[in-house]
Amino acid sequence: MTEVFKGSFTQQEPIPEEGIAAAMEVLRSGRLHRYNLGPGEAGEVALLEREFAEYTGARHALAVTSGGYALACALRALGVRPGDRVLTNAFTLAPVPGAIASVGAQPVFIGVNEALTIDLDDLAAKADQAQVLMLSHMRGHLVDMDALMAICDAAGVQVIEDCAHTMGAAWRGIPSGRWGKVGCYSTQTYKHMNSGEGGFLVTDDDAVMARAVILSGSYMLYARHGTVPPEEVFEAVKYHTPNVSGRMDHLRAAILRPQLRVLDAQCEKWTARYRVVEEGLRGTPGLRLVERAEAGRFVGSSIQFLLLDWEGGAVEEVLRRCAARGVELKWFGGAEPAGFTSRYDSWRYAPAAPMPATDRILRGIVDMRLPLTFSLEDCAQIARIIRAEVGAVWQARAA
Ligand SMILES: *Cc1c(COP(=O)(O)O)cnc(C)c1O
Repeated sequence: MTEVFKGSFTQQEPIPEEGIAAAMEVLRSGRLHRYNLGPGEAGEVALLEREFAEYTGARHALAVTSGGYALACALRALGVRPGDRVLTNAFTLAPVPGAIASVGAQPVFIGVNEALTIDLDDLAAKADQAQVLMLSHMRGHLVDMDALMAICDAAGVQVIEDCAHTMGAAWRGIPSGRWGKVGCYSTQTYKHMNSGEGGFLVTDDDAVMARAVILSGSYMLYARHGTVPPEEVFEAVKYHTPNVSGRMDHLRAAILRPQLRVLDAQCEKWTARYRVVEEGLRGTPGLRLVERAEAGRFVGSSIQFLLLDWEGGAVEEVLRRCAARGVELKWFGGAEPAGFTSRYDSWRYAPAAPMPATDRILRGIVDMRLPLTFSLEDCAQIARIIRAEVGAVWQARAA
């Protein structure tokens, strides 16, 4: 009998009851705007900012409308101007080059290697072309952050970390988002905390934070934030920093605060699921696993494997056969962007020189979500299905 997986790859867990109760209270109060506070009240957004700063160990945290907003806000806060170049990963998703383009800057793409991390040789070669690197920790694959920071520090390049897939992860014990000047996170439904839409920016730098707060739409109410740089820092920037509204509201913050309290436990559940799929796929002929670096603590909210040097038609055949058995895989080798999946050369607004070594990797990357609604047994079944279908296509190819 051929087994078929019945779960949904887009079904997340419900919001914790505590979050639902807190959200109802906000709704009843009528006070949803972050600066609409009762007497003596800090408000859900400022409390969340304080708690997120504490969680990451950052001096400051700012809650905003989305991860993409946080990225663009970070670029502006670091002084990136129209026409500037910004280094970024060739292997990432649309909001990353999109954030760079949104401030009128031009992405310069850095290649990806077989570990699915940024190619440090390519980074070193291009580091003199820009003053900022927007580093996407794509699918949670953490590069050697000591080596990356050494390259960037030597070249005077400031780093913005895109932690959309690494909230809760760390390199050598230091949280992802705390290596660069600014860390950006998303709380969109498919990330590690779910408020539908939402995001954070963290930094230790008072001036960067003051600019980010005003950019996010604080008017002159910045003292109501969860973490507040000294008044003289605001005095120096407040007449020069435009308001580009992107505030979080109390409703989303109320939903997120209870999720932050259990984030580490959730991350462990993801990684337990990941390990079951990984073990189930290990040794499949023609399929290469992407080993996670020992110095990294990753969050296994998705898994990738490589069908390296397979023809496109054969990869598509694997995807079709798995889909027919209920297993949804995504492929980074498609000629056209599809669903959430795209490539660096999908974007006509960001011309890119050909990157043959990177194209070879992208053509091999197969990607799968692992929502927490899957049980460990579900994960074992998914791995059996992928293993069987990759094996069938591999054998037909060899014959
Ligand atoms: C989701 C995502 C973002 C942006 O997050 P939004 O909250 O959806 O704007 C940025 N980078 C990557 C890699 C993402 O997957």
